Amino acid sequence: MNFKYVVVGAGLAGLTIAERIASILGEEVLVIEKREHIGGNCYDEVVDGIIVHKYGPHLFHTDNERVWEYLSQFTEWRIYQHKVLGVIDGMEVPIPFNLNSLYKLFPPKMAEKLEEKLVTSFGYGKRIPIGDLLKEQDKELQFLAQFVYDKIFKNYSRKQWGMDPSKLGEEVFKRVPVVIGRDDRYFTDRFQGVPKKGYTYFFKRMIKNKKIKLLLNTDAGELISLDEKKGKIKFMGKEFKGILVFTGELDRLFEYKYGPLPYRTLQFEVEKIDKLSFQKVGVVNYPNNYKFTRITEFKHIHPISLPYSIIMKEFPASYNPNTDIPYYPIPSEESREKYHRYLQLAHNIKNLILIGRLAEYRYYNMDAIVERALEVFEKRILSSSLY
Ligand code: FAD
Ligand code: UDP
Repeated sequence: MNFKYVVVGAGLAGLTIAERIASILGEEVLVIEKREHIGGNCYDEVVDGIIVHKYGPHLFHTDNERVWEYLSQFTEWRIYQHKVLGVIDGMEVPIPFNLNSLYKLFPPKMAEKLEEKLVTSFGYGKRIPIGDLLKEQDKELQFLAQFVYDKIFKNYSRKQWGMDPSKLGEEVFKRVPVVIGRDDRYFTDRFQGVPKKGYTYFFKRMIKNKKIKLLLNTDAGELISLDEKKGKIKFMGKEFKGILVFTGELDRLFEYKYGPLPYRTLQFEVEKIDKLSFQKVGVVNYPNNYKFTRITEFKHIHPISLPYSIIMKEFPASYNPNTDIPYYPIPSEESREKYHRYLQLAHNIKNLILIGRLAEYRYYNMDAIVERALEVFEKRILSSSLY
């Protein structure tokens, strides 16, 4: 096997890079994937006729036209505006918390007064982080901020991250703002949808090029090793002089030299429900009850006329590097420091490129990963191939 380009991981990051190398450079590229399938955490499969996202609900959304157009070469989209409800005090209210949620949870007079204060302070239509609302001086807005934090963010985040939410980086909470308006959608991006025939079908089309060789069920560690002192990569025992694009866990690549990086994992419980529909929208969050955080009903995301439905409950759990899938990097000061120690080691290896949620230890959405992969391809692969 004599490849100039090797990609570890057949998730969205790895597949985008492989597609570009094969289509733009016309070069052969080997993709090594340890799971039995491509797609990483975006992978989906058809269960009893319904498309089920095996590793949790994946809704595509972006403001980046270039990313949308790039991906649209390989898939048609079902245009889908994602909506989420949260069960608060026994009532289902729109999440992100917005003016509709306010009127559902408070008596009309009180809701009117709070709406007026919110609009005066922030402006109609604004989307503000809960941290900003918590800083408000006005007593009634302070009360509202504390209510929203306690009922929506505090317990959900404890469940999700297994730590005190005050230790989480603020980028986590910024993902779900407080909305001073009546838009019930979870995302506001210009382009939103899910692949019409699912992510797996879409990704298979993406890597149809014969120049892309796929090796499933293979951990990179079986073929690749590093000579840290010399700053060299070995592929099947010999020095590898091509480009290695690595999208897996960085701590593992360096054999946990500084100890494992912390992650949260998830357990999923999938149930077939013997009725047309289980819930009103695609996802319902349960911030304050149960051990799971949310329930997804896939028929809302990929509609199909069947007399039954399929739901999925998500149970966050502590992560064991030997047995679990690392879903979420922990966004804390301490974990970032450890990651940077590994990054220093990686910088000594000039033909190693790190990209992805795992290799960069960053909470990337799908669109951000594609944007990053396109950029990395242009700046580090295409340009180096010109010499
Ligand atoms: P991954 O998908 O993790 O792919 C990495 C691949 O590398 C995996 O297949 C893994 O098996 C393989 N690998 C790792 N190490 C090795 C090794 N040593 N050897 C061989 N193979 C290896 N984003 C959105 O935009 N919208 C959403 O709605 C959304 N929902 C999400 C819900 C959940 C529950 C989760 C966990 C994530 C969600 N995301 C969502 C984020 C999305 O999953 C990521 O942005 C995307 O999967 C990142 O792609 P990736 O290639 O970096 O990582
Ligand atoms: N969050 C919360 N309550 C909710 C929804 C989200 O506290 O009802 C917080 C929680 O910390 C979560 C983060 O906001 O991890 C990001 O939420 P998002 O829905 O983006 O999570 P993901 O889909 O990435 O799991």
